[in-house]
Amino acid sequence: EDQIAKDYVNKVYNTVEKRNPNEYEFLQAVKEIFDSLIPVFDKYPKYINYGILERIVEPERVITFRVPWVDDLGTVQVNRGFRVQFNSALGPYKGGMRFHPSVNTSIVKFLGFEQIFKNSLTGQPIGGGKGGSDFDPKGKSELEIMRFTQSFTSELHRYIGPNIDVPAGDIGVGSREIGFMFGQFKKLSGGFEAGVLTGKGLEYGGSLARREATGYGTVYFVQEMMKDKELDFNGKTVVVSGSGNVSIYAIEKAVELGAKVVACSDSDGFIFDKNGINLETIKRLKEDGSERISEYVKEHPHALYSEDCKDIWSIPCDIALPCATQNEIDEETARMLVANGVSVVGEGANMPSTLEAINVFLDNDIIFAPSKAANAGGVAVSALEMAQNSGKLSWSFEEVDIKLKEIMRDNYRKSIQAAEEFGTPGNLVAGANIAGFLKVADAMVAHGIT
Ligand code: GLU
Repeated sequence: EDQIAKDYVNKVYNTVEKRNPNEYEFLQAVKEIFDSLIPVFDKYPKYINYGILERIVEPERVITFRVPWVDDLGTVQVNRGFRVQFNSALGPYKGGMRFHPSVNTSIVKFLGFEQIFKNSLTGQPIGGGKGGSDFDPKGKSELEIMRFTQSFTSELHRYIGPNIDVPAGDIGVGSREIGFMFGQFKKLSGGFEAGVLTGKGLEYGGSLARREATGYGTVYFVQEMMKDKELDFNGKTVVVSGSGNVSIYAIEKAVELGAKVVACSDSDGFIFDKNGINLETIKRLKEDGSERISEYVKEHPHALYSEDCKDIWSIPCDIALPCATQNEIDEETARMLVANGVSVVGEGANMPSTLEAINVFLDNDIIFAPSKAANAGGVAVSALEMAQNSGKLSWSFEEVDIKLKEIMRDNYRKSIQAAEEFGTPGNLVAGANIAGFLKVADAMVAHGIT
């Protein structure tokens, strides 16, 4: 009987709920993981005795700070900056920075919490963290973005370092913003410490294939899952939400494997191109983040544009790759995808499906690749970037890509094995959560109560 384990998990969850009211995204991420872990506490009560759950769910440190900057009109603006240093059992805190108006404590905590397990699963020596700001880069000039990012980094710089906390990009933070952060950090620290940030430009310590890693990795992971069912991307119709870094390289790899990608989106709307979208156009419009996806139809007049973002999931497809943002697929949307015949869902974004949507996919035997496992390629190659920085060397694109493929294959194997071992065969949501958890928990046991 697993009643003791269930009671333990419920008791800790209730405390978390009470302590973090209104943090819906954080509580959602916590709930998903806690539910997966009941069989683990049943099998290994020592984790209960060591208070692992109580400790892992409380960030080691949450930093919030004022970010003042002056806009192009000379007006003073103030945004809020965040860095959550969630867990350092496996290595320095590691995770991206998100610049988006929706950023708040709940969002950075959900992302930081996910990052602990995701980073563990990659097998790389990195802890979990996340940060960002409610700054909205949309419509800002390059100089405004620079001034904001410099002010942000002036405060952040005292908390980060190659062996302490290593930020990277996320929504709204690409190689340009990482460049501004690096420049400001270098100026303030007075030395050249390449390993303090990842996702850097190739001229100053960035890694080949980091840009492609999250999107490629998601497709590699889905490919592994499909292989087990004797399926592949060739000839399949694919819908990919988003048109940022994750989306663009997921599209590129899916097309390379013979799929037809018929739709993608941005925060204003989506495009549908029944001939298969022209990726060169998307890259030109979106890679620097300055244009809207609606521009696509001017060059490709046969394509359709709609302002109803959610409707992208009404397009029938074999494979759905949500690569935009959290909770973009709710229960109703999941049912629509299933009714329209989807057979594979691979999460490139962080937590793009609600808990209810995940259950719809699992109940209908959809091949479901959860974000924690499927999008871990980005942070995995960030860890490879750190390794290259500390060894003062740089690997070729092919070397990094081969390592990425191996990591994604291992992610899959570890998740499938954990699901099998803990009584939910084939359920990769549980498998990935358990496999990620075990390594962190063992390190926390080894370190004593800290
Ligand atoms: N923001 C990415 C993620 O969600 C990458 C983080 C990193 O490279 O540190 O995993």
